[in-house]
Amino acid sequence: MTYTIKKTVSASSRSLPANEKLGFGQYFTDHIFTVNYTEGEGWHSAEIKPYQNFSLDPGASVFHYGQALFEGLKAFRQKNGRVVLYRPEFNARRIQEGAERLCMAPPPLDLTLQAVRELVQVDERWVPEGKGTSLYIRPTLIGTEAFLGVRPSRTYLYFIMLSPVGAYYGEGAQTVKIWVEDHYLRAAPGGLGAVKAGANYAGSLKAAFEAKKKGYAQVLWLDTAREGIEEVGTMNVFFVFKNEIVTPALNGSILPGGTRDCVIQLLKAWNLPLSERRLTMTEVVSAHKSGELLEVFGTGTAAVISPVGELAHRNEKYVINNAQVGPLSSRLLQEITGIQYGEKPDNMGWIEPV
Ligand SMILES: *Cc1c(COP(=O)(O)O)cnc(C)c1O
Repeated sequence: MTYTIKKTVSASSRSLPANEKLGFGQYFTDHIFTVNYTEGEGWHSAEIKPYQNFSLDPGASVFHYGQALFEGLKAFRQKNGRVVLYRPEFNARRIQEGAERLCMAPPPLDLTLQAVRELVQVDERWVPEGKGTSLYIRPTLIGTEAFLGVRPSRTYLYFIMLSPVGAYYGEGAQTVKIWVEDHYLRAAPGGLGAVKAGANYAGSLKAAFEAKKKGYAQVLWLDTAREGIEEVGTMNVFFVFKNEIVTPALNGSILPGGTRDCVIQLLKAWNLPLSERRLTMTEVVSAHKSGELLEVFGTGTAAVISPVGELAHRNEKYVINNAQVGPLSSRLLQEITGIQYGEKPDNMGWIEPV
């Protein structure tokens, strides 16, 4: 189904920041997409308009009980100038699943996909040019009803904002040091860990902050037993052993990442021995001792592949691959970014024109 999206084009077009200044999420483009949901009426008033503030009642449920979900995906300017989206349907489906968990109205697939395309078309000039740069797309769903009783909101706002982002890695990928988190917990069985709720991020800030103070880039999240490995920072995680590659199975408290899914598909296509299963710290420590732990890396939309050079766990430091980027991490990063920038054939069908 095709929706009618009202368009009001911005009267002024701001000057574009230089690629070196972009960083991550610091600049927003000229336009925003918004659509409202009202119980009984459905989704209505879809529009693309100049980027602007919202006006919300202070009683809106998002401010009190945290009905808020977000997504993150990217558009790329390929070598030939063509702008493409990377797996937009994956994210459109994931926000629907999240909405179900948070008792929010799920935005229809056709609407969210059309909105992303039309918004990126309107702000196409903001898609930076150059390997590593991209236009980060941030769809967000919030409860807007002004009502302090505890129940799901009856009205919602879904919006999409765009942010040009710079290259994550300047001179090639680098490894990071990770603190294995033995105290704080990101998610628990039956909780919100498997959906992209803002609340998960609020709960994770303190652990990341304390790890940074100790000199670590992020934390490795464990399960409630502080034994099973779940995720690394805001990324999924893979461990490469001598005879097996393991990523923790989706157990209900792990976020089903799109990049995780791409890596799984590639490893299978390359006939490498991948397992999705529970993986414990005990196992990792013993593999490290016997020299069988070869690589560890995180996967996520922002960095694609983030190799880990050291894990700090209970007063022990485990250096991985001499803190150098390993061959599988490099190969995956080259393959996925190669597909994104149109340098490699898209055999998986991950790229879509806007
Ligand atoms: C977004 C996110 C990921 C990565 O998902 P991608 O779709 O690959 O970007 C992993 N873990 C958490 C907790 C996340 O929020």
